[in-house]
Amino acid sequence: MSFGVEDGILSIDGVRVDEVVEKTGTPVYITSYSKLLENINAYRKAFPEQKKLYAVKANYNLAILRIIAKEGFGADVFSHGELYLALLAGFKPEDILFNGNSKSDEEILAGIRAGVGFSVDSLDELHTISEIALSEGRTVKIAFRVNPDVSPETHPKIATGLRTSKFGIPWEDVVDAYRIAYELPNVDPAGIHCHIGSQIREVEPFVEAMNRLFDISAEIQETGIKLEFMDIGGGPGIDYDGKGALNPDNFAEAIIPVFRERKKEINESLELWLEPGRSIVGNTTVLITRVNSVKKAYKNFVAVDAGFNTLIRPAMYGSFHRVSVASKIDREAEETYTIAGPICESGDILAEDRKLPRVEKGDLIAVYDVGAYGFVMSSQYNGRPRCAEVLAKNGEFHIIREKEDIGDILSKQRIPEFLF
Ligand SMILES: *Cc1c(COP(=O)(O)O)cnc(C)c1O
Repeated sequence: MSFGVEDGILSIDGVRVDEVVEKTGTPVYITSYSKLLENINAYRKAFPEQKKLYAVKANYNLAILRIIAKEGFGADVFSHGELYLALLAGFKPEDILFNGNSKSDEEILAGIRAGVGFSVDSLDELHTISEIALSEGRTVKIAFRVNPDVSPETHPKIATGLRTSKFGIPWEDVVDAYRIAYELPNVDPAGIHCHIGSQIREVEPFVEAMNRLFDISAEIQETGIKLEFMDIGGGPGIDYDGKGALNPDNFAEAIIPVFRERKKEINESLELWLEPGRSIVGNTTVLITRVNSVKKAYKNFVAVDAGFNTLIRPAMYGSFHRVSVASKIDREAEETYTIAGPICESGDILAEDRKLPRVEKGDLIAVYDVGAYGFVMSSQYNGRPRCAEVLAKNGEFHIIREKEDIGDILSKQRIPEFLF
């Protein structure tokens, strides 16, 4: 079992969290290897023939990337840094798609030299890719990122396929973009792409978006292009709050039959690609944070050593994360507490009004489901070094990122001569 209890203390893959903390201090992110593998295998089972590109931005710890690469996934990257890490982790260039609405010329050059495909967000970018590819003597596989104009029920900040979103080319205009791409040297318009958002729990918006892509694909092929793949992006939601998730099986059951049927209109060899991020890593990881103080004020506040510098999701999206007292896991809930971080802003609240066992200074609090958009969005705000990351597997744990120290806060800062 990925998450269990030993001697009244939370354990992850057979490792007690207090043992980890002794070594790494707090806060610390701990990932369950078995849970990660379970998620990977669930996708492999539900989508055996489809290309699965892991969305690297969700969690790009190199050890995590290595596990996912070894299991045969491709990668969806959003920057030169993510591309570099993905290659280092062992993802094959032909299984990497370079995404993003604002790629610099340097990033495009790096992607072309690495031999990866591109999801193209504008005609400006298309021309840049063609010019750089020409000067490098390479041909680049591209897909256009289509804005399908669908509105999934999710947080507005993570809905990316609305008409008003900054991403993609409006679906009405995209056929013209393919016409232009067809005439340009050194680009091969082989795919069509969309990504409608994140933490989506219903299948309907995905089906709607895919249907939209099919509606324009026939017209695209009339330009002389033969589409090789349709990439419907990522976005399946996970069960943060007990209200259910979109699991890969349900997702596949809704998507694959429609895809099989409609690809007949386009061509039989059209491949379906996916880009899951959150649903691969989200529920694999727990954040362990220590209680510095407990006080009765307007509410019962538990002040812990992780704030939005360590986990920004609650402050940024109002996200709900389950919490427990990891050091008293079997005790009964008695009191209602609000868990507050150490940052000097009132919005620095990790969890509000949770019923928990009696909390005391020194206790460990676990914040669940933080494997996606957790550590990767952390900062050094308030002059706090970033924390460690740990991988637990079979009763052993491995530090997969050392915690930072004050030196890391100082390392790139300079005082100009005249101030001495
Ligand atoms: C963020 C992103 C994903 C992954 O989204 P999840 O909700 O984490 O599955 C996939 N594709 C693109 C283009 C993205 O920007």
